Amino acid sequence: MSNGHAMATLQRDLRTGTPVWLRRGGVRVASMPLAANLKVDVVVVGAGVSGALVADALRRAGKSVAVLDRRGPVMGSTPASTALLQFDIDQPLIHLKRKLGRERAVRAYWRSATAVDFLRGRIADLGLRCAFRERQSVYLPGNVLNVKELKREAAARKEVGLRSRFIDAGELRALTGIERPGALLSSGAGEVDPVALVAGLWRSAQSRGVRIYAPTEVVDIDAGRAGVTLTTADGHEVRARHAVFATGYELVKLVKPRRYKAISTWAMATAPQPERLWPSRCLIWEAADPYLYIRTTPAGRVIAGGEDEAFSDEARRDALIPAKINAIRRKLDRLLPGLDTRPEFTWAGCFGDSATGLPAIGAIPGATRCFAVLGYGGNGITFSAIAAQVIQRAILGLPDPDADLFALPA
Ligand SMILES: Cc1cc2nc3c(=O)[nH]c(=O)nc-3n(C[C@H](O)[C@H](O)[C@H](O)COP(=O)(O)OP(=O)(O)OC[C@H]3O[C@@H](n4cnc5c(N)ncnc54)[C@H](O)[C@@H]3O)c2cc1C
Repeated sequence: MSNGHAMATLQRDLRTGTPVWLRRGGVRVASMPLAANLKVDVVVVGAGVSGALVADALRRAGKSVAVLDRRGPVMGSTPASTALLQFDIDQPLIHLKRKLGRERAVRAYWRSATAVDFLRGRIADLGLRCAFRERQSVYLPGNVLNVKELKREAAARKEVGLRSRFIDAGELRALTGIERPGALLSSGAGEVDPVALVAGLWRSAQSRGVRIYAPTEVVDIDAGRAGVTLTTADGHEVRARHAVFATGYELVKLVKPRRYKAISTWAMATAPQPERLWPSRCLIWEAADPYLYIRTTPAGRVIAGGEDEAFSDEARRDALIPAKINAIRRKLDRLLPGLDTRPEFTWAGCFGDSATGLPAIGAIPGATRCFAVLGYGGNGITFSAIAAQVIQRAILGLPDPDADLFALPA
């Protein structure tokens, strides 16, 4: 099937401002535009964190892999990420159980938890220097879960063996200095510099034979039983046994957008202030809507973000940067009064939301041999790690026990 010579994916202005990870300028990963036709086992469209983890997994399984990106390596949404690595899905387990049923909700949480471990393992295997730190994560009460409900959430997680427990006001104060009646504490989370992570993944993949072609835009997809042919804006063709669309919030048009929507989000980073930080340096987020999330960097900066709004208009998003950063600062001041909350970096970005908080990963219905990764939800990077495993197995013809949870809607 062919989708005609229209654009193959949506086109968006993915981010504005300077994310803290780009403070020293651009990303150093070599690439060049595709200048001839090409034949490979797998073609991956998108050179962000999803594409990088999927390409790594396929190369590891012996496939020849080419990557195409209309911008360049790590030039899409990934540099805007605040890169808290968590297993908590946007929907608390007690809510997700109501939506999906107990068994599916629990599997989604377990799978997210193992994905963070998988990512940590891969960073170690490849010796990536990407400021990865294992962290605990504190979930504060808010208008989504009050203290009583957080206790229920803690019990629901404990019952299925997840690494979470309720902590009282004293323990919360000792970990964070925050005055609240209690919180949910989880182990097994982490933080990373997303640009260093993905640049490192690409350099490693390149050293193992993966080629990145950019700027190269895919404008047409022709998927058939024998293989997939992608046509680029320059008129070249890439023929592959399989194609993976890791195009982030620029949804591939073969996928029905129902249940997945692009929204807007804002973030900031302070100057380094290691002496003012909370003792545990754990990740902090609120069970609130709109939410606030906070982390530190190894240099002692504080990164905070949130204030999401359910629209994707870029002009409106960018005009709101000063007001949204002020709102984030005010919340930060109230929560952690000892910090210097003056922002040194501010940015805004396109973000993705799904009805269940779960990503969509897998075969594209109606497009033979084509797969998509829609890591929509607050844990986009954790979901990219799940995608690497699910898509690797699908292409190898092996079963994945959780593939049904993430399957794309028909
Ligand atoms: C402000 C902000 C904070 C976030 N915080 C967190 C967090 O704390 N933790 C977390 O886990 N996640 C977080 N996320 C989400 C996470 O960053 C994203 O899920 C992730 O970066 C998406 O990566 P990706 O590779 O799917 O997309 P991208 O990085 O956008 O890569 C997709 C690529 O596809 C390319 N492309 C699209 N169409 C075409 C085409 N037709 N031809 C060729 N190339 C094409 C684009 O150029 C782009 O480079 C955050 C996101 C934002 C914006």
